Amino acid sequence: MMENKHYDAIVVGGGPAGLTAGIYLSRARLNTLILSEGTIGGQMVLTHEIANYPGVESINGYMLGNIMKKQAQSFGCSLKSNIDITNMELDGAVKTFTLSNGETYSADAVVLTPGGRSRTLGVPGEDSYKGKGISYCATCDGDFFTDKEIVVVGGGNSALEEAVSLTKYASKVTIVHQFDHFQAFEHAIEEARKHPKISIVMEATVSAFYGEENLEAVDITHLKEQRVERFAADGVFVFIGYVPNTEFLQGKVALNERGEMVVNADMETNVPGVFAAGDAIAKRYRQVTTAVGDATVAALAASNYLHQLKSKSA
Ligand SMILES: Cc1cc2nc3c(=O)[nH]c(=O)nc-3n(C[C@H](O)[C@H](O)[C@H](O)COP(=O)(O)OP(=O)(O)OC[C@H]3O[C@@H](n4cnc5c(N)ncnc54)[C@H](O)[C@@H]3O)c2cc1C
Repeated sequence: MMENKHYDAIVVGGGPAGLTAGIYLSRARLNTLILSEGTIGGQMVLTHEIANYPGVESINGYMLGNIMKKQAQSFGCSLKSNIDITNMELDGAVKTFTLSNGETYSADAVVLTPGGRSRTLGVPGEDSYKGKGISYCATCDGDFFTDKEIVVVGGGNSALEEAVSLTKYASKVTIVHQFDHFQAFEHAIEEARKHPKISIVMEATVSAFYGEENLEAVDITHLKEQRVERFAADGVFVFIGYVPNTEFLQGKVALNERGEMVVNADMETNVPGVFAAGDAIAKRYRQVTTAVGDATVAALAASNYLHQLKSKSA
């Protein structure tokens, strides 16, 4: 049987939220371990260029993740990436974690930062052209499509609002939506409908992506007639929903109907000693800056919780 290692705090997830929590907790001289399923950096590693992180004019996402990782390590934070948590007990005073390799860890406080993923269309070519014409983030990638013709897939508020915001860059925006009506606020629908750069194709979906090195065209399937149209496009933005990586937290902390973790203003979950931050909590705007902001609050609140625990037991 492997020996259990006990920490003051365990952070689950190694994206910007998890790394920020690691930086703050370690700097507060709390013995901290980050456990991350994927590579360190989270969704930032998928981002070729981050141009909206204050203080850094423009940086590759992988590099920003690496800088945050080194900063956490410089304060003594331990990191384990590419791990698989097979069991987790959060209810007691001591929180325990078991990994698929049999290692066990425990901590007095936990910060959950598993992030999330955009819902994908799941159609041919989507994996090949991700980052080569297909994007799931207008704020992040809109600028790359200056004077280009793009398609926006979706019919909710984010699709319509992002379609309008993308007209700042693109020469033409075609919204493709599967139903005969939008599921968005009236003002968002109005703004999209009357915009001179936007055209709308209803009751249709993007069913395949084509190109050489980069995306060049899509198939638009008109659902009523089952007619397929090959449509030239330099870029496609998919806004058909967002999925938080919280499947492993079902029954462990309170989740809302979208699977997002419910937290208060101090980033506390409903379980004492368990805090949460980043893209997986219930909130509207998901950016690196908001993730590091939430995680700062979560780490400070966790530090305070640990301080009070130590004072009680002294
Ligand atoms: C293509 C793209 C481009 C973007 N560009 C920008 C941009 O330019 N500017 C900007 O501000 N934002 C951008 N974003 C958004 C930004 O990347 C996210 O808001 C941010 O990364 C969220 O940070 P996070 O730490 O909450 O989650 P994530 O970055 O998702 O990190 C979550 C981490 O948790 C790990 N994890 C998941 N499940 C488990 C588990 N069960 N156990 C352990 N670990 C787990 C993951 O492997 C990952 O390491 C972009 C996003 C994408 C997808």
